[in-house]
Formats: sequence, structure tokens, C-alpha cells
Amino acid sequence: MDAPPLSTSFPTSGAGRYAPSPSGDLHLGNLRTAILAWVLARRSGRAFRLRIEDLDRVREGSEQRQLEDLAALGLDWDGEVVRQSARGTAYDAAIEHLRTRDQVFECYCTRREILEAPSAPHAPPGAYPGTCRDLTEAEREAGRERMRQLRREPALRLRADVTTWTVQDLWAGEVHGMVDDLVLRRGDGVVAYNLAVVVDDAAAGVDQVTRADDLLSSAPRQAHLARLLGLAEPRYAHVPLAVNPAGARLAKRDGAVTLRDRLEQGETAADVVGRIGESLGLPGCRTASDVLERWDPSDLPRDPWIVDLPDR
Ligand code: GLU
Repeated sequence: MDAPPLSTSFPTSGAGRYAPSPSGDLHLGNLRTAILAWVLARRSGRAFRLRIEDLDRVREGSEQRQLEDLAALGLDWDGEVVRQSARGTAYDAAIEHLRTRDQVFECYCTRREILEAPSAPHAPPGAYPGTCRDLTEAEREAGRERMRQLRREPALRLRADVTTWTVQDLWAGEVHGMVDDLVLRRGDGVVAYNLAVVVDDAAAGVDQVTRADDLLSSAPRQAHLARLLGLAEPRYAHVPLAVNPAGARLAKRDGAVTLRDRLEQGETAADVVGRIGESLGLPGCRTASDVLERWDPSDLPRDPWIVDLPDR
């Protein structure tokens, strides 16, 4: 099939979203992705939601700073900000839905055992090798006993009945990717990111997922999970990552890369939007609304954004 048309301008009742992890201040790459998520949603008449992915890696005060930074660039959002830490009941219900359909099994493997196990026949490289998928009840009891000794809970995994799934991405077109017996709940009791994201997007009416393209390979398994939960599969729009001049993913250690760092360097929020606009081929933008008015999604540079900043 051909890539889907790049038209984003028909009104719909759905929503787009931005879903940061509150692990530190957002850097220019994060801010660019947030602006593009907002622009794509607003352009197509969608609501725009914010969700804080605070199941782990939380830094005190980070959520508040992230929200302030997004607002400073001119973004607005609809409804309450959702926090994953408050959504446990919804995740439990999703796991229960799968369990009643015999699509969940307990996994007693350690990370090392998974890495060292021979891969299952026909399984794609890197897939869970299936060690705990079809154990007898006696073997499960032995596994649980082992977990008790290790003071861990068994992880819960999906009993996947497909090995690949296909999603539509605004720029990448039709993307085929691996689905394996992915983790639904980790051994430390925390719900897995792949499940949380699917449950939360659906609950918020999100049908347009814009995010960085390091998550492109996760999209097929998330869309498949949505299907198994009886939820609509969203459309995706994966944006290239920001990198430093050496080509490595942009990080705090690359210098003054956050909005607040830039302000300390004497720039304004408008200057920072200006940099992001320039990375999209739009010189002279001062607020996110300028990007909204002028950006054509079919012009998105498909290579990573190389961020090379003058530090004063
Ligand atoms: N919380 C993830 C991050 O900050 C994004 C997850 C998503 O957009 O699906 O990288």
C-alpha cells in the first residue's frame, strides 16, 4: 500500500497528546517534538492532551517545570493533566481483560536467562524466547517458589498470537514491526510502559500519537495491544530525534540544551521557538502559533536534528 496522504487538515473529534517523563527539564529535541505534536493536533481540529509518565524515573519538581516550559513556548492543552501514577485501576482492568481471554502468563525468568536462552523457532531476533509461556502447573509452582526466594513477583507477559503487526505513520508510511510476548507488569509490580501508554491514550480519546522516532519500533506492539483490548489503534507521527554534533542523542551533558539553560544564556523563549522553527525550515517563528500557521508537515526533515549551540 502507498504511504498515507500527508493531509492533516480535516477536523475530527479525536485528540493528540504529549507524554513526557518527569525525569528532568525538557531539552530542545523534546520541546520540538511537543510543538509538533501540538501543531498536528490543532491543525486537524483535535484536542491536545498532556500526560505525565511518572511510573518511574521521577525527579522532584520536574513535572511543574515541564508544564511551565511548554506554556512558555505558547502551547496549551485541554482538560486535566493526567498522571500515570493515578491510573493503576485502569491498568489492572486491562490486564484482567487479557487474563480472562487466557492472554496473560506469569514469567519467572531473570533478564540474564532471557538473554542467554536459545531463541524460539520462527521467533524474530530479540523476541522473548517463550520459556515460561507453556509451563505445567507444577513448573509454575516451582517458578513462584523461586520468585519468593528472590523476593520478586513474577512478571506478567502477553501470550501473543502474532509475531508482527502493521501501523500507519504520517511520515514513515506503513511500518511493520515485531510483536512478542511483551511484559505487561514488571517483576517489581510496576505496569509496563507499553501497556500504560495504550490504556491511557485510549482513555483520553487520543487517535494521533506524535512522539520521537526512537519509539517507532514500539508502535506495532502497542497498536496490537490496543486491538487485543478492544481499543481503536491510533495513527502515528514519529519525529526524528535531536542529536549533538557528534551524532549522539541530545542530552543534558551537551551543555545549555534546555529552555532554562537558554534563558540563562540570555535568550528568550521566543528565540528558542525561533531555533526550533529554523530546524523545520521556518526562519522567524516567535511562538508555537507561528509554527502552527506556517509549517507544512510534508516538509519535515527526516534526518535527526543536529543541535549545535553557541554557549556564551
Ligand atoms: N514518556 C516517553 C518519553 O518521554 C514518551 C512516550 C510516548 O510518547 O509514547 O520519552
